[in-house]
Amino acid sequence: MNFCPDCGGKVEKNSVYCPTCGYALNTIIQGDAEKDKKIRDLEQKVAHLERSLESKSGRKSPIPQNFPFWIIPVTVIAFFGMFALIIFIVLSR
Ligand SMILES: [Zn+2]
Repeated sequence: MNFCPDCGGKVEKNSVYCPTCGYALNTIIQGDAEKDKKIRDLEQKVAHLERSLESKSGRKSPIPQNFPFWIIPVTVIAFFGMFALIIFIVLSR
């Protein structure tokens, strides 16, 4: 047994309209239930994200605060340095 969300009257499970007030039941109930579920899922995701952000000392970035950004240019320079060294060795033979 379901209840009408509009008037609160008892309605059969499969009825499309509320017998008391004529409210369109099935579509509304299913649509709302699905929407509510999606909203709850989203709220849970947002809450989870907020918790995980708070646990990372409140910083709103997935990259940690102490990430060594200098390592990127150093790696690139080291790579090209090695490359140039190999070419130099090959050419100097
Ligand atoms: Zn009703």
